[in-house]
Amino acid sequence: MAVHVVGNVALDTTFRLARFPEPGETVNAASASVALGGKGANQALAALRAGAQTWLWAALGQDSEAEAIRRGLAREGLGDRFLTALPLPSDRSSILIDASGENQIVSAVACARAYDPLSVGWANIAQAGDSLVLQGNLGMDVTRVMLDAARSASCRTVLNASPLADGCSMPLGADVVIVNRGEAAMLTGERDPTEAARALIAHGAGSAVVTLGGAGALVLSGGDSSPMRIPARSVRAVDTSGAGDVFCGTLAARLSLGDALGRAAQISGAAAALAVTRAGTFGCGPSAAEFQAILE
Ligand code: ATP
Repeated sequence: MAVHVVGNVALDTTFRLARFPEPGETVNAASASVALGGKGANQALAALRAGAQTWLWAALGQDSEAEAIRRGLAREGLGDRFLTALPLPSDRSSILIDASGENQIVSAVACARAYDPLSVGWANIAQAGDSLVLQGNLGMDVTRVMLDAARSASCRTVLNASPLADGCSMPLGADVVIVNRGEAAMLTGERDPTEAARALIAHGAGSAVVTLGGAGALVLSGGDSSPMRIPARSVRAVDTSGAGDVFCGTLAARLSLGDALGRAAQISGAAAALAVTRAGTFGCGPSAAEFQAILE
């Protein structure tokens, strides 16, 4: 049973600086580094390392950044069979991190917004029993159409409704919808995570998972009245960015390997806890070997 992660891939440039610039001001960074990123790529790598046969479906440009992206994916064993080259600049993000660890991110997502997985044959490749994993970087119409296509193909659908770029709305008709606390509130208007999970199910989600940062996660299966609480592992947090992607990719992989939702969420929380002890996003989760240790 394959996991098809359909999303974005980008080159991220991270600047570390003492404080953010004011409008019109230039600030010298203490360091700058370039790394692979994009929620699609991050989640695909987490799913692969969690043991699932994983395909990344994403669009990139026809520029030197695209070559760097392809090399970075190949280094981690993510194949390029379902990457589509578009006549656009590859997607990029600039990430500013200040001395307190707070971040500001600017993304150019032309490739993700122009990408249409159905036009490059997704429906011919997906098999009944496979999983489709989506995030919020694709066009909203594409997300809606892909959820329908996956349902027609009898694939499980896992939607991480993040980022909420288009006016805080998102089609929610997926088997599992995963959001963090803030996204849950924005999507449903409910600040209480349990009420938000109930509202997500009322809006079409089969089950809802609300991640709560250092407080773990809450899982509500459709038909259940009370949620299951997944406590977070106690770790020394170094960089929490990327934890959500590790959680989502791992969850999709474990569901595809037959785990029940609660067990999959427990394992995903353990993988995400390891991710917060490391800097960066792409590959910040457990390696395949470390993942085996989590399962034992
Ligand atoms: P990101 O900042 O990567 O976008 P997110 O906002 O999508 O993350 P969070 O709710 O912050 O998602 O974190 C996802 C999961 O990661 C949590 O459910 C939890 O299991 C784990 N996690 C996050 N922060 C911590 C922490 N400080 N300690 C232990 N586990 C954590």
